[in-house]
Parts: sequence; structure tokens; C-alpha cells
Amino acid sequence: MTEREMRAVDQTALWHPFTQMEGYADELPAPPIIERAEGNWLIDIHGNRFLDANCGYWCLALGCRPNAVENAIREQLQKFSHSTLLGLSHVPAIELAKKLTGLAGAPLNHVFFADSGSEAVEAALKMSYQYWCHKGQPERSEFLALGQAYHGDTLGAVAAGGIDVFHAAFKPLLFPVRRVPAPAGGPECAVVIEREIEAHCKTLAAVVIEPFVLGPGGVIAQPEGYVERVLLAAKKFNVLAIFDEVAVGMGRLGTLFAFEQLKTEMRPDIVCLAKGLTGGLLPLSAVLAAEHVYAAFLGKFSERRTFFHGHTFTGSALGCAAALAALDELSRPGFLERVRLETIPHFWRVLENLRGHPKVRCVRGRGMMAGVEVARSENSEYAWEEQAGHRAVLAARARGVQTRAIGNVVLAVPPLTILPDEIELLGRVLRESLDELE
Ligand SMILES: *Cc1c(COP(=O)(O)O)cnc(C)c1O
Repeated sequence: MTEREMRAVDQTALWHPFTQMEGYADELPAPPIIERAEGNWLIDIHGNRFLDANCGYWCLALGCRPNAVENAIREQLQKFSHSTLLGLSHVPAIELAKKLTGLAGAPLNHVFFADSGSEAVEAALKMSYQYWCHKGQPERSEFLALGQAYHGDTLGAVAAGGIDVFHAAFKPLLFPVRRVPAPAGGPECAVVIEREIEAHCKTLAAVVIEPFVLGPGGVIAQPEGYVERVLLAAKKFNVLAIFDEVAVGMGRLGTLFAFEQLKTEMRPDIVCLAKGLTGGLLPLSAVLAAEHVYAAFLGKFSERRTFFHGHTFTGSALGCAAALAALDELSRPGFLERVRLETIPHFWRVLENLRGHPKVRCVRGRGMMAGVEVARSENSEYAWEEQAGHRAVLAARARGVQTRAIGNVVLAVPPLTILPDEIELLGRVLRESLDELE
């Protein structure tokens, strides 16, 4: 196909996610059509190169072309690509279950596979409700979630979500979820969620949070000690705690699992993983479940304690092989130490330089996950319709950096493998792009 033909299809037949297709055709510079990739760089049909500062969508943790993961997929392809976990098993799923539960450690001894982050959250919500049914407390059908939360796009995950622009349209379709505001300020803001957990502890199935950073909600980092207090309150009042680590897991915060950042030995009851799990090369997600959760589902066939949930591609063999290789890389001695000791500090030194910029309201985040919030001036915000964040993204695109904005927040969520000079380039390009905002 010529570029002209490709553009015509791209602007009509291909319906892009989270994209207003009217106006998509007029965007300048035109959205790159990617043809290949090298290292942390995407390359379009004209050979233009773009540093992938959003790494797929927060998933290409090891860069666009991790050798080990590509080889693992190729090797698996020589054996078989897909079978099912419904009633039989396969080698890569078994190996991955051993690896993941081994790395997670007790009590997260069990893993249920799905295909996307949304599906992992969906499974976790259903799992926690069914858990309480088996415990003889079916009245526990409520969930508690945070304002600005994002847990995916399937209806259960949307119900748990708290971002109005994305979620309000679907309200009539959703089950109600209790909500407390996104944490802001000091650790004392945890009091609000602690009180809510206590007040509704007889009807809550679970509290579901993105630990440490609310990602798609605007990269809002939570105050020190907040996650620990949520977890402690959940334990104290016997409510299950679900960590949605879809964005913050797999090394994003400098530890393989986000829960390793906890300043306590306590662990959540259920952990959702996706995005970087396969290094981002193939869709696969995982729900880690603590011993007591799993045990509640055991019983005679006739007791109907089976977890009645699963997908055609649950535990895809290719996905499992990719995840095994990605986990080998991420857990290789020295890899995450380097991310923690060198990459993250360098990344933040460069981003903090943007703080004095006249268009920057704040720079926030944690680990390898940052958001730069733009504003017209100190006391004037851009309206959502002005798409200021997106205009900065287009300016960055023209300078060879690919990223994305959520409202007025420009994202910087690069691969963990980003090199020092690429971090410098990212900082330079972001500054020049912000300069262009009128
Ligand atoms: C991306 C994301 C999801 C949804 O994952 P998908 O694979 O896109 O379905 C859920 N929760 C968080 C925190 C995410 O960042």
C-alpha cells in the first residue's frame, strides 16, 4: 500500500481507542505509522525515529525489541502457540506460575491468568465477591475505590474507576462503588479511607487501589505511608485488599512488584499484573491470590465453589513464554538495582529541571512514571477542550519523541532500559515542546 492508501484506511476503517476520529486526519504532524523498532525507538514508514517515552502504553518495560523475550516467543512458536487451561495444562503456564509465585512470595501462592489489565481487575472483583459468598457473607457485594482511579475499560473495571471524562458516560450500566477522594496532602488524608473501611466493613467485599501512584488518573503519587494505612485498615476490619499493579508493577517503581515498596511485611490479598508482564510484547495478565483466598474456593464439585470465570486465551502459551523471559530479565541480579540507583534518580533530575517552566504547574509521579501538568499561567488553567497536553505531545512528536497526554498532564513513562542520553533528550524535547505552548 502507498502511504496515501494507508492513511485513507487509517482514518476511516481503523477506529483508534480513546481517539476522536473526527479531526484525527488533520493532526500535524500526522500520526506516525510505525513499521519497525530498535532499542527504545519506534521507526515509521519513512524511517523517522521516535524515542518511545510512553513505551507502548506503559508496557514495553524492556524496550521495544528485548532480545530474550523475542527469542522466547520464537522458541515457543516452534512447539505450539495455544492450548487451553480449562481442564488441561501446558508447560509455559506451569513454569510461569512457579516463577511468579516464587518471586511474589507467601502468601501470594496462587496465580490466575487473563489477557489484559482490565480482565485481571474484573477477575479480582469477581473473585473477591465469590470469596465472601463462600465465607457465608453474600451481603458483602460492595467495593471501595479511589477518586481518579483507573482500573480498565470492561464494565466492572469501569465501575471501580473514578475518572469522570472516561467513566461518566457509562454510569447507568455500572454497579455502584463507594469512593473516597484521591489522596492529596499529607499522610493524614488516609483517615478518610480508614473511616470508610471501618464504617462499611460488614458490606465491603474489597478495597481496590492502584498502590503508590494513580496512573491514568493523572500520575498522582500518594503520600508516604498512605498505602500501608489502607492495607492495615483493610486487615483490621477484615476487608480484602486488591492492588491493581497493572501500571506500577513489573519494575515501574524500581521493584519487581509495587508491594515490595511497602514499609511493612503485610501483603494485599489479591494483586493484578499486566502491561509489563510480557515485557509488553504480548497480551497477558495475572491475578495473584493469597492462600486464604484460594482456599475458600476449594470444595466438593457439588458445592459449586469453583471460580466460574475464564477466557478462551487464559494463560496463552506464547504469552506465558514471553512473560517467563521478561521476568528472567527483570529479576536478573543487578537489573532493577541499576534502575533504582541510576535510571530513576537521573530521570527525576532531568524532569525536575522542568519545574520552573512558566507552563508547568507541577511535575509529579514516582519511579519511572512521571506526569508534567501544564497550565497557561500560575493562576489560569487550560480548559480540557484546548487539548494543551496533546498539543505539547504533537510538538514533541515533531522533535522525535513519542508520548501521550491525559488532559493537561503530559506523560513520561519510558522503558526501564532508557539510556542516559535518551533521558537527556526527553528532558530537552519536553522543555522545547512546552515552550511552544502559547
Ligand atoms: C492500563 C491499566 C489497566 C487496564 O489494563 P488493559 O490491559 O489496558 O486492559 C488497569 N489498571 C491500571 C492501573 C492501568 O494502568
